[in-house]
Amino acid sequence: MTTTRFAPSPTGHIHVGNLRTALFNWLIARKAGGTFILRIDDTDPERSKEEYVDAIKEDLEWLGLTWDRVERQSLRLDRYAEAAEKLRGMGRFYEAFETPTELDLKRKKQLNMGRPPVYDRAALTLSEAEKEKLRAERGDGVWRFKLKQERIEWADGILGPISIDAASVSDPVLIRADGQVLYTLASVVDDTEMGVTHVVRGSDHVTNTATQIQMIEALDGTVPAFAHHSLLTGPAGEALSKRLGVLSIRQLRERGVAPMALLSLMARLGSSQPVELKDSPEDLVEGFDLSTFGSAPTKFDEQDLFPLTARVLQATPLAKVAVKLKEVGVPDEEAERFWLVVRDNISTMDEVAAWWRMFTDGAEPVIEDEDREFIAEALALLPEGPHDGETWGKWTAEVKEKTGRKGKGLFMPLRKALTGQAHGPDMSQVLPLLRVIKARG
Ligand code: GLU
Repeated sequence: MTTTRFAPSPTGHIHVGNLRTALFNWLIARKAGGTFILRIDDTDPERSKEEYVDAIKEDLEWLGLTWDRVERQSLRLDRYAEAAEKLRGMGRFYEAFETPTELDLKRKKQLNMGRPPVYDRAALTLSEAEKEKLRAERGDGVWRFKLKQERIEWADGILGPISIDAASVSDPVLIRADGQVLYTLASVVDDTEMGVTHVVRGSDHVTNTATQIQMIEALDGTVPAFAHHSLLTGPAGEALSKRLGVLSIRQLRERGVAPMALLSLMARLGSSQPVELKDSPEDLVEGFDLSTFGSAPTKFDEQDLFPLTARVLQATPLAKVAVKLKEVGVPDEEAERFWLVVRDNISTMDEVAAWWRMFTDGAEPVIEDEDREFIAEALALLPEGPHDGETWGKWTAEVKEKTGRKGKGLFMPLRKALTGQAHGPDMSQVLPLLRVIKARG
């Protein structure tokens, strides 16, 4: 059965880059009627925070990316210890004692000689007595996985055929000197034991994948299908890593972005298919195809989310926003009329408050000098409220007759005097909602 996972580390809020990973894995599972696991990669006790676990779940729920099961790496440490023992038993795991400074020096020397900075495996030649001595001097060492020096190959679902020479990669550290299991080992054990069939993640993990394939094989697991999506950049192609760190899903939510605007964009951005706005995450399943995604860095522009959000709002029925309208102070009996008028004129939900204020407090009138007399004459003809959908038509017909003005010269000054703006919803809809007409003075 198709099983995928989204495996964030709860060391911060999820951002648009993570969202891409979550969404792709979710879509693959849903398309196949399989299982989508939310795996919390919390083997780092210092950096992992419970508040981030909660926040990640909240963000995924807001997006509508439902998971079938939650797993936590911190609850599976015994499984990782067992795997480590197994690797030790087969001679694929060794202790190394170099300090970070020593490793750094080695790397610099290699680079100076024009060689790739790969760990030289000096620890492999240590005798038991030498290790004892080092342990006594420096404490426990780190544990490295001994790669087989051969080419590691896989057919990547996005990047195509990949071939990496294991000799160009350092034997990865899987257990730190303080005993902390690192993600690489934990992930391999989990993917194997949880029957993960597809792993989609960012292309910053390509080298990890190479080493993990050897680890999975060593542990007798089945190698899943791997795919690595390109990294996101800013609109001009600039590295986004810094800005992306800031651009969390929560921030987009606070800025009023609609979840389906975000998901619809992300499900297609960087693929050969056009972005299509859909009503629900499930509707994105059809047509989703990993092989249509390119390997080049993908440009992401936050601004693209707002026109999409506007389109989501235009199609949103009152029932879905009733709570928000109530919060803003719109009475139930006026909610429908209000929503139908403003939903075509906002790009985020946050703007409804300003519209409601405009209707209740009245807008600052904008009146050109040459229109002053005309506006005074017109307002004198406007009946006292409450107004209905017919008022505007009847009133402007009368104003036209009395003043001789017509077309734009008639309607535009009135709109600006009543709403303070040159654009906006149909005035016959606006007038009944306008409680205060400041232009009356
Ligand atoms: N916790 C890892 C990360 O956030 C998971 C990577 C993976 O999907 O294997 O980068």
